[in-house]
Amino acid sequence: MADFDATVVGAGVVGLAVARELALSGCSVVVLETAASIGSETSSRNSEVIHAGLYYPRGSLKARLCVEGRRRLYAYMAERGVPHRRCGKLLVASDESEVPELEAIHRRGTENGVEELRIIDAAEARRLEPALRTAGAVLSPVTGILDSHALMVAYQGDAESAGASIAFRTPFEGAETLGEGEFQVRAGGEEPTSFTTSILVNAAGLHASRVAGAIAGLDAAHVPQMRYAKGNYFVLAGRSPFTRLIYPMPNKAGLGVHLTLDLGGQARFGPDVEWVDAIDYTVDPNRCAGFYEAIRRYWPDLRDESLTPGYSGIRPKLVAANEAAADFRIDGPEAHGLAGLVNLFGIESPGLTASLAIASEVRARLDAA
Ligand SMILES: Cc1cc2nc3c(=O)[nH]c(=O)nc-3n(C[C@H](O)[C@H](O)[C@H](O)COP(=O)(O)OP(=O)(O)OC[C@H]3O[C@@H](n4cnc5c(N)ncnc54)[C@H](O)[C@@H]3O)c2cc1C
Repeated sequence: MADFDATVVGAGVVGLAVARELALSGCSVVVLETAASIGSETSSRNSEVIHAGLYYPRGSLKARLCVEGRRRLYAYMAERGVPHRRCGKLLVASDESEVPELEAIHRRGTENGVEELRIIDAAEARRLEPALRTAGAVLSPVTGILDSHALMVAYQGDAESAGASIAFRTPFEGAETLGEGEFQVRAGGEEPTSFTTSILVNAAGLHASRVAGAIAGLDAAHVPQMRYAKGNYFVLAGRSPFTRLIYPMPNKAGLGVHLTLDLGGQARFGPDVEWVDAIDYTVDPNRCAGFYEAIRRYWPDLRDESLTPGYSGIRPKLVAANEAAADFRIDGPEAHGLAGLVNLFGIESPGLTASLAIASEVRARLDAA
C-alpha cells in the first residue's frame, strides 16, 4: 500500500480545492507547498472576480468549468460564510465600432449558459452608472467579487477536517513511476523526504511545467512550454464613481484594463498585459500612461494623478503573445497514459471562479481511468 492515496503539489486555490475534493471522497491526502503559507502566488494576485462565463468558446473547459464553478462557488461561500458580493458587471462598448463584438460576446455568454445576461443601450447604461461613456453594454448581474484568501482558508479547513495535511516549505522535487499506479515522490526543504502515493496532482501554477518535467516516465511531449503574461494593477485614489465592475472589450491575452472593486469598495484598474521571461511582481509606475488612456475610453472624467501603482499577478500562458487564447489543460491518464497522474496547465482566469469545478474534473479524470 502507498504511504498516501493522493499527493497534491501546490497550495493555491486550485491545489486546495483538489485536496478538499479528494479528502472528502475518503483519500488520505498530503499537499506539498514550497512557500510558508497558502496562496502565496497567483491565487493572491488576481482581480478576485467571480466570473459569469461570458468570453470562452462554447464547449471549452473554461466555459463549462467557469459556469459550473461559479454556481457552486456562490452556494459554497454562502454556506461557509466566505465574504463575497454579487455586485454585477457592465461590459462596455466605448464606441459604435465595438457594438458587433459586444453582441457576439452576449451571444457566446448565453450559449455558455450564463444567466440573466442582457444587452442594454447607452441611456440605460448611464442610468445605472452615470460616469460611464458607452455606446451600449452587456449587463451581467451574476458577476461578483470575493475574498480569495477567505475562500482558500475555507478549502484548507474542509481538507484538513477530512484528514488532509499541508506540508509547507516542502517543495516537490521529482517523482518516479513505480508501475501499478504508484509514484515515489521526492520532497525537499529542511527535512528532505521521500514517500509513495497512488495519485499525484500537479497544481503548481506558474511552475506546473517544471514539476511535470521532474516526473520520470512522463513523456516530454506531455509537458507544454509555459509562458508568462504579467498583469499590473493601479489603484484609484478616492471614491469609485461606479458600483458595478466595468470591463472594456477583451483582447487576445486578457480581459482589458477593467475596474474592479474590493469588498471595502476600493477601486483598482487592471490587469494590463506585459509578457515577461521571469517572475517579478514589481509594478513599473511608467505603465500608468497606458492605464489613463485605456480607462478614459469608458471613464473620460478620470483625473490626472489619481492612479498609483498597486500590485501584479502573472498568467501561466500556454500560447505566445501573438497566438489565440488557449483553454485550460487538465491532463489525466487519458492524455498521457500514466495512471494516477493529473497535470494542470495554463490555469489562468477564470481559475479562481472555476476552482470547485476544476477539482471535480480532476477527480472525474482519475475515476475514469
Ligand atoms: C492578473 C490575474 C488576474 C486574475 N483574475 C481572476 C479573477 O478575477 N477571477 C478568476 O476566477 N480568476 C482570476 N485569475 C486566475 C486565478 O487567479 C488563477 O487561475 C488561480 O489563482 C490559479 O490557482 P493555482 O492554485 O492553480 O495556482 P497558484 O495560486 O499559483 O498556486 C500554485 C502553488 O504551487 C506552489 N508550487 C509551485 N511549485 C511547487 C513545487 N515544486 N513544490 C511545491 N509547491 C509548489 C506555489 O508556491 C503556489 O503556492 C487571475 C489571474 C491573474 C494572473
